[in-house]
Amino acid sequence: MARIVMKFGGTSMAGIERIRHVASLVRREVERGNQVAVVVSAMAGETDRLVHLCREAASLYDPREYDVVVASGEQVTSGLLAITLQGMGLNARSYMGWQLPILASGHAAALIEGIDVDVLERVFEGGGIAVIPGFQGVTAEGELATLGRGGSDTSAVALAAAMNADRCDIYTDVDGVYTTDPRIVPKARKLDLVTYEEMLELASVGAKVLQTRSVGLAMRYGMPLQVLSSFEDRPGTLIVGDDALEESPMERNVITGIAHEKNEAMVTLTGLPDSPGTVANIFAPLAAANINVDMIVQSVPRRGEESVLTFTVPRASLAHSVAELEKVKAAVGFDEVVTNTEVVKVSAVGVGMRSNAGIAAQMFQTLAERGINILAITTSEIKVSVLLPEEYTELAVRVLHTAYGLDAEDSE
Ligand code: ADP
Ligand code: ASP
Ligand code: MG
Repeated sequence: MARIVMKFGGTSMAGIERIRHVASLVRREVERGNQVAVVVSAMAGETDRLVHLCREAASLYDPREYDVVVASGEQVTSGLLAITLQGMGLNARSYMGWQLPILASGHAAALIEGIDVDVLERVFEGGGIAVIPGFQGVTAEGELATLGRGGSDTSAVALAAAMNADRCDIYTDVDGVYTTDPRIVPKARKLDLVTYEEMLELASVGAKVLQTRSVGLAMRYGMPLQVLSSFEDRPGTLIVGDDALEESPMERNVITGIAHEKNEAMVTLTGLPDSPGTVANIFAPLAAANINVDMIVQSVPRRGEESVLTFTVPRASLAHSVAELEKVKAAVGFDEVVTNTEVVKVSAVGVGMRSNAGIAAQMFQTLAERGINILAITTSEIKVSVLLPEEYTELAVRVLHTAYGLDAEDSE
């Protein structure tokens, strides 16, 4: 007997027909003798709809009330799945975040502080199935809280860790983690194994198949994760520690995958004085305003000349960033703030980069051959990222995928 968490995303829960199919997958695990907790997302498109309603009601809405609105989508699907499972003669019940409770702090992007598993233990003792809405928790003050977009993945992994599960299965609308988004590159190849570290990097640079925080949690607890399709019955992708990879007989590519992120905006400050403290005085107010700065490039001035500083911020924080920068313009002494939202960050990720030189050079060469101009670059031990004009998104991802030898063998 195993103890498992099964998580179903929005497309898998989009309508009663799909929910019936999900229920049959849950029944199969229960019939194998497993103890099962199910975490569900809202129906596809529902959270977007609820977010828009909040924006329509007021452009600067209260995050506490936003949580009250957007948490409702998962309440509906968890109740519907419990009803469907009961209709199949199974002993299932839904438990909202506040009923367990799943304790969280903050609003709109709340952090999970802890999960009480007493209720779940009693459900399992009685041979029952627990259905739990993803994405939501409750604050110490008893208020509803949500975990940020894509947060049901994090709910599932946190629950799996709290209940000492043997594994956490993430059912979605693709049958695993691919070398890049298969909806953009049809030649993308499914990966059998990905390490936590690679998945963490891929998710953080835009592979939205898993929320980044869920991968961080799985890595911390050594929780085996599996990404698989709720539509097709075939093996998915296992996300595991480095040690499991070393035992694998498969030879691996230097690059594991390519991801892209359109949610970035570029900010350029011109005419910066060439003096110590200038950059500190620019980033301090952004940090104080909780704005995450990502890529940073500064031109090196010749002695006595002015320099230019370029960096990226999340698109949603651009207006706020410009407002903060305008406040310090006179004190810092730069000329102008120029912004550009038509950019995309494209990244190549792979643990093999540690032992292979020339990965970044290959990226620059491949993009140069297509006449694609690079606006900014950052690297880490297992990742190279470039900022490009947004219009080249698909082309850049496609040519890099081919250049790094990632295209599926049977594709032309
Ligand atoms: P869910 O609603 O099940 O949580 P998401 O839409 O959040 O599903 O995530 C699944 C989607 O992630 C896929 O439909 C796919 O387009 C996208 N995706 C992006 N990068 C990758 C990748 N490397 N491998 C697989 N899917 C990816
Ligand atoms: N429904 C939420 C969202 O769309 C959470 C999730 O599906 O993971 O962001
Ligand atoms: Mg998701």
